[in-house]
Amino acid sequence: MKIIYIVFITLFTVVVISCTALPTCNKNQVLAMGGMNSVVDEDAFAQQRKRMVKEQIAYRGVKDKRVLEAMESVPRHLFIPEEIRSYSYYDQPVPIGFGQTISQPYIVAFMTELLQVGSNDIVLEVGTGSGYQAAILARLVKQVCSIEIIKDLGEEARQRLKQLGYANIEVMIGDGYKGCPERAPFDAIIVTAAAEHIPQPLIDQLKPGGRMVIPVGGVYAVQDLMLITKDESSEIVKTSIIPVRFVPLLRK
Ligand code: SAH
Repeated sequence: MKIIYIVFITLFTVVVISCTALPTCNKNQVLAMGGMNSVVDEDAFAQQRKRMVKEQIAYRGVKDKRVLEAMESVPRHLFIPEEIRSYSYYDQPVPIGFGQTISQPYIVAFMTELLQVGSNDIVLEVGTGSGYQAAILARLVKQVCSIEIIKDLGEEARQRLKQLGYANIEVMIGDGYKGCPERAPFDAIIVTAAAEHIPQPLIDQLKPGGRMVIPVGGVYAVQDLMLITKDESSEIVKTSIIPVRFVPLLRK
Protein backbone atom coordinates (compact mmCIF):
# COMPACT_ATOMS: atom_id res chain seq x y z
CA MET A 1 0.00 0.00 0.00
CA LYS A 2 2.84 2.34 0.96
CA ILE A 3 4.58 1.63 -2.37
CA ILE A 4 1.41 2.43 -4.35
CA TYR A 5 1.09 5.67 -2.37
CA ILE A 6 4.73 6.66 -3.17
CA VAL A 7 4.30 5.84 -6.89
CA PHE A 8 1.10 7.92 -6.98
CA ILE A 9 2.76 10.93 -5.29
CA THR A 10 5.77 10.69 -7.63
CA LEU A 11 3.58 10.54 -10.75
CA PHE A 12 1.43 13.40 -9.48
CA THR A 13 4.53 15.54 -8.85
CA VAL A 14 5.93 14.79 -12.33
CA VAL A 15 2.63 15.75 -13.98
CA VAL A 16 2.36 18.99 -11.97
CA ILE A 17 5.96 19.95 -12.74
CA SER A 18 5.65 19.27 -16.46
CA CYS A 19 2.36 21.18 -16.71
CA THR A 20 3.66 24.28 -15.02
CA ALA A 21 7.34 24.23 -15.98
CA LEU A 22 6.96 23.67 -19.72
CA PRO A 23 4.85 26.71 -20.58
CA THR A 24 7.07 28.93 -18.41
CA CYS A 25 10.13 27.57 -20.13
CA ASN A 26 8.67 28.12 -23.61
CA LYS A 27 7.51 31.60 -22.74
CA ASN A 28 10.97 32.49 -21.45
CA GLN A 29 12.56 31.11 -24.58
CA VAL A 30 10.21 33.13 -26.78
CA LEU A 31 10.93 36.26 -24.75
CA ALA A 32 14.67 35.62 -24.88
CA MET A 33 14.62 35.06 -28.63
CA GLY A 34 12.55 38.13 -29.39
CA GLY A 35 11.51 37.49 -32.97
CA MET A 36 10.53 33.87 -32.53
CA ASN A 37 6.83 34.66 -32.59
CA SER A 38 7.05 35.98 -36.12
CA VAL A 39 9.14 33.00 -37.25
CA VAL A 40 6.44 30.70 -35.91
CA ASP A 41 3.75 32.83 -37.62
CA GLU A 42 5.58 32.71 -40.96
CA ASP A 43 5.75 28.91 -40.77
CA ALA A 44 2.05 28.71 -39.93
CA PHE A 45 1.17 31.06 -42.81
CA ALA A 46 3.30 29.01 -45.22
CA GLN A 47 1.36 25.90 -44.19
CA GLN A 48 -1.95 27.71 -44.69
CA ARG A 49 -0.77 28.88 -48.11
CA LYS A 50 0.08 25.32 -49.14
CA ARG A 51 -3.41 24.20 -48.14
CA MET A 52 -4.97 27.17 -49.93
CA VAL A 53 -3.28 26.15 -53.19
CA LYS A 54 -4.25 22.52 -52.83
CA GLU A 55 -7.80 22.79 -51.50
CA GLN A 56 -9.10 26.03 -53.00
CA ILE A 57 -7.17 26.44 -56.25
CA ALA A 58 -5.83 23.17 -57.69
CA TYR A 59 -8.91 21.28 -56.44
CA ARG A 60 -11.15 23.64 -58.45
CA GLY A 61 -9.21 23.02 -61.64
CA VAL A 62 -6.38 25.57 -61.94
CA LYS A 63 -3.56 23.55 -63.51
CA ASP A 64 -0.89 26.00 -64.68
CA LYS A 65 2.19 25.03 -62.65
CA ARG A 66 3.74 28.48 -62.76
CA VAL A 67 0.52 30.03 -61.44
CA LEU A 68 0.26 27.48 -58.63
CA GLU A 69 3.90 28.10 -57.69
CA ALA A 70 3.37 31.86 -57.62
CA MET A 71 0.28 31.46 -55.42
CA GLU A 72 2.29 29.29 -53.06
CA SER A 73 5.23 31.63 -52.81
CA VAL A 74 3.72 35.13 -52.52
CA PRO A 75 3.00 35.89 -48.82
CA ARG A 76 -0.65 36.98 -49.18
CA HIS A 77 -0.90 37.87 -45.47
CA LEU A 78 1.59 40.72 -45.95
CA PHE A 79 -0.91 42.40 -48.30
CA ILE A 80 -3.71 42.31 -45.72
CA PRO A 81 -4.22 44.78 -42.82
CA GLU A 82 -2.61 43.44 -39.64
CA GLU A 83 -5.83 43.39 -37.58
CA ILE A 84 -7.45 40.88 -39.96
CA ARG A 85 -4.38 38.99 -41.08
CA SER A 86 -5.78 35.74 -39.71
CA TYR A 87 -8.30 35.77 -42.60
CA SER A 88 -5.54 35.93 -45.23
CA TYR A 89 -5.87 32.36 -46.46
CA TYR A 90 -9.64 32.01 -46.12
CA ASP A 91 -11.61 31.12 -49.23
CA GLN A 92 -13.03 34.65 -49.58
CA PRO A 93 -12.22 38.27 -50.48
CA VAL A 94 -10.86 40.38 -47.60
CA PRO A 95 -11.26 44.15 -46.98
CA ILE A 96 -8.12 46.24 -47.53
CA GLY A 97 -9.50 49.66 -46.51
CA PHE A 98 -11.04 52.50 -48.55
CA GLY A 99 -14.06 50.27 -49.23
CA GLN A 100 -11.95 47.96 -51.43
CA THR A 101 -11.15 44.25 -51.23
CA ILE A 102 -8.38 41.86 -52.17
CA SER A 103 -9.97 39.12 -54.32
CA GLN A 104 -10.56 35.56 -53.15
CA PRO A 105 -7.38 33.48 -53.76
CA TYR A 106 -9.10 31.20 -56.27
CA ILE A 107 -10.26 34.15 -58.40
CA VAL A 108 -6.73 35.63 -58.43
CA ALA A 109 -5.32 32.28 -59.61
CA PHE A 110 -8.13 31.66 -62.11
CA MET A 111 -7.79 35.10 -63.74
CA THR A 112 -4.01 34.78 -63.84
CA GLU A 113 -4.25 31.39 -65.56
CA LEU A 114 -6.71 32.81 -68.11
CA LEU A 115 -4.19 35.51 -69.04
CA GLN A 116 -1.74 32.83 -70.31
CA VAL A 117 1.28 35.05 -69.66
CA GLY A 118 4.86 34.27 -70.62
CA SER A 119 8.12 35.32 -69.00
CA ASN A 120 8.80 38.05 -71.57
CA ASP A 121 5.39 39.68 -71.34
CA ILE A 122 4.55 43.23 -70.33
CA VAL A 123 1.27 43.31 -68.44
CA LEU A 124 -1.10 46.07 -67.39
CA GLU A 125 -3.20 45.74 -64.26
CA VAL A 126 -6.08 48.14 -63.59
CA GLY A 127 -6.86 48.27 -59.84
CA THR A 128 -3.65 47.80 -57.82
CA GLY A 129 -5.49 47.64 -54.47
CA SER A 130 -3.13 45.89 -52.05
CA GLY A 131 -0.62 44.99 -54.79
CA TYR A 132 -1.17 41.25 -54.34
CA GLN A 133 -2.33 40.45 -57.88
CA ALA A 134 0.56 42.54 -59.21
CA ALA A 135 2.99 40.52 -57.06
CA ILE A 136 1.61 37.23 -58.43
CA LEU A 137 2.00 38.50 -62.00
CA ALA A 138 5.47 39.86 -61.32
CA ARG A 139 6.71 36.32 -60.72
CA LEU A 140 5.46 35.22 -64.11
CA VAL A 141 6.24 38.09 -66.49
CA LYS A 142 8.93 40.62 -67.35
CA GLN A 143 7.18 43.82 -66.29
CA VAL A 144 3.92 44.76 -64.57
CA CYS A 145 2.39 48.23 -64.83
CA SER A 146 -0.38 48.63 -62.29
CA ILE A 147 -2.74 51.61 -61.99
CA GLU A 148 -4.69 52.56 -58.87
CA ILE A 149 -7.25 55.37 -58.70
CA ILE A 150 -7.18 55.83 -54.87
CA LYS A 151 -3.94 57.69 -54.20
CA ASP A 152 -3.34 56.50 -50.61
CA LEU A 153 -4.00 52.87 -51.51
CA GLY A 154 -1.69 53.04 -54.53
CA GLU A 155 1.11 54.65 -52.53
CA GLU A 156 0.77 52.08 -49.77
CA ALA A 157 0.94 49.24 -52.33
CA ARG A 158 3.96 50.82 -54.03
CA GLN A 159 5.78 51.01 -50.70
CA ARG A 160 4.84 47.44 -49.75
CA LEU A 161 5.98 46.01 -53.09
CA LYS A 162 9.25 47.89 -52.83
CA GLN A 163 9.87 46.54 -49.32
CA LEU A 164 9.14 43.02 -50.51
CA GLY A 165 11.68 43.45 -53.30
CA TYR A 166 9.45 43.40 -56.40
CA ALA A 167 11.61 45.38 -58.80
CA ASN A 168 9.53 44.71 -61.94
CA ILE A 169 6.29 46.38 -60.82
CA GLU A 170 5.51 50.00 -61.53
CA VAL A 171 2.54 51.39 -59.58
CA MET A 172 0.88 54.45 -61.07
CA ILE A 173 -1.88 56.61 -59.63
CA GLY A 174 -4.66 57.46 -62.06
CA ASP A 175 -7.80 56.35 -63.84
CA GLY A 176 -7.10 52.95 -65.32
CA TYR A 177 -10.07 53.26 -67.70
CA LYS A 178 -7.65 55.16 -69.90
CA GLY A 179 -4.98 52.48 -69.58
CA CYS A 180 -1.37 53.56 -69.75
CA PRO A 181 -0.54 54.92 -73.23
CA GLU A 182 3.08 55.65 -72.16
CA ARG A 183 3.77 51.93 -71.63
CA ALA A 184 1.44 50.43 -74.26
CA PRO A 185 1.04 48.10 -76.07
CA PHE A 186 0.61 45.23 -73.60
CA ASP A 187 0.79 41.48 -74.05
CA ALA A 188 -1.94 41.10 -71.45
CA ILE A 189 -4.30 43.32 -69.45
CA ILE A 190 -6.11 42.40 -66.24
CA VAL A 191 -8.84 44.55 -64.75
CA THR A 192 -9.68 43.79 -61.12
CA ALA A 193 -12.74 46.06 -60.77
CA ALA A 194 -16.06 45.67 -62.61
CA ALA A 195 -16.59 47.87 -65.67
CA GLU A 196 -20.03 48.59 -67.14
CA HIS A 197 -18.52 48.13 -70.58
CA ILE A 198 -15.09 47.18 -71.91
CA PRO A 199 -13.01 50.39 -72.02
CA GLN A 200 -11.99 51.11 -75.63
CA PRO A 201 -8.56 52.52 -74.58
CA LEU A 202 -7.72 49.11 -73.07
CA ILE A 203 -8.69 47.27 -76.26
CA ASP A 204 -6.55 49.74 -78.22
CA GLN A 205 -3.56 49.17 -75.91
CA LEU A 206 -3.62 45.38 -76.33
CA LYS A 207 -0.97 43.92 -78.67
CA PRO A 208 -2.11 41.76 -81.59
CA GLY A 209 -2.10 38.25 -80.09
CA GLY A 210 -2.82 39.74 -76.64
CA ARG A 211 -5.36 38.79 -73.97
CA MET A 212 -7.46 40.81 -71.55
CA VAL A 213 -9.45 39.54 -68.56
CA ILE A 214 -12.11 41.88 -67.18
CA PRO A 215 -15.30 41.62 -65.10
CA VAL A 216 -18.11 43.35 -67.01
CA GLY A 217 -21.50 44.28 -65.58
CA GLY A 218 -23.49 46.56 -63.34
CA VAL A 219 -22.37 47.94 -60.01
CA TYR A 220 -23.08 45.56 -57.10
CA ALA A 221 -24.65 43.04 -59.50
CA VAL A 222 -23.25 39.70 -60.58
CA GLN A 223 -20.89 40.43 -63.44
CA ASP A 224 -19.49 38.38 -66.31
CA LEU A 225 -15.80 37.62 -66.23
CA MET A 226 -14.85 38.19 -69.88
CA LEU A 227 -11.81 37.05 -71.84
CA ILE A 228 -11.00 39.38 -74.71
CA THR A 229 -8.48 38.26 -77.30
CA LYS A 230 -6.98 40.28 -80.14
CA ASP A 231 -5.70 38.10 -82.95
CA GLU A 232 -2.75 38.83 -85.22
CA SER A 233 -4.99 40.76 -87.62
CA SER A 234 -6.34 42.79 -84.63
CA GLU A 235 -9.74 41.11 -84.69
CA ILE A 236 -11.42 41.06 -81.25
CA VAL A 237 -13.12 37.99 -79.79
CA LYS A 238 -15.07 38.31 -76.52
CA THR A 239 -15.90 35.23 -74.44
CA SER A 240 -17.93 35.12 -71.27
CA ILE A 241 -16.22 32.79 -68.76
CA ILE A 242 -17.89 32.73 -65.32
CA PRO A 243 -20.14 34.91 -63.14
CA VAL A 244 -18.18 36.98 -60.61
CA ARG A 245 -18.68 39.83 -58.15
CA PHE A 246 -16.19 42.71 -58.04
CA VAL A 247 -16.09 46.23 -56.62
CA PRO A 248 -16.92 48.81 -59.32
CA LEU A 249 -14.43 50.45 -61.66
CA LEU A 250 -14.46 54.10 -60.53
CA ARG A 251 -14.09 57.07 -62.87
CA LYS A 252 -12.28 60.36 -62.44
N1 SAH B 1 -6.06 43.71 -57.49
C1 SAH B 1 -6.23 44.16 -56.15
C2 SAH B 1 -7.66 44.21 -55.67
C3 SAH B 1 -8.53 45.01 -56.52
S1 SAH B 1 -9.90 45.79 -55.73
C4 SAH B 1 -5.40 43.35 -55.17
O1 SAH B 1 -4.73 42.39 -55.57
O2 SAH B 1 -5.42 43.66 -53.99
C5 SAH B 1 -10.20 46.93 -57.03
C6 SAH B 1 -9.25 48.10 -57.03
O3 SAH B 1 -9.51 48.85 -58.21
C7 SAH B 1 -9.47 49.04 -55.86
O4 SAH B 1 -8.27 49.28 -55.22
C8 SAH B 1 -10.00 50.31 -56.53
O5 SAH B 1 -9.62 51.49 -55.87
C9 SAH B 1 -9.36 50.21 -57.89
N2 SAH B 1 -10.02 50.98 -58.96
C10 SAH B 1 -11.34 51.19 -59.14
N3 SAH B 1 -11.54 51.93 -60.24
C11 SAH B 1 -10.32 52.17 -60.78
C12 SAH B 1 -9.87 52.88 -61.93
N4 SAH B 1 -10.72 53.50 -62.76
N5 SAH B 1 -8.55 52.93 -62.18
C13 SAH B 1 -7.66 52.33 -61.36
N6 SAH B 1 -8.03 51.65 -60.25
C14 SAH B 1 -9.34 51.57 -59.97
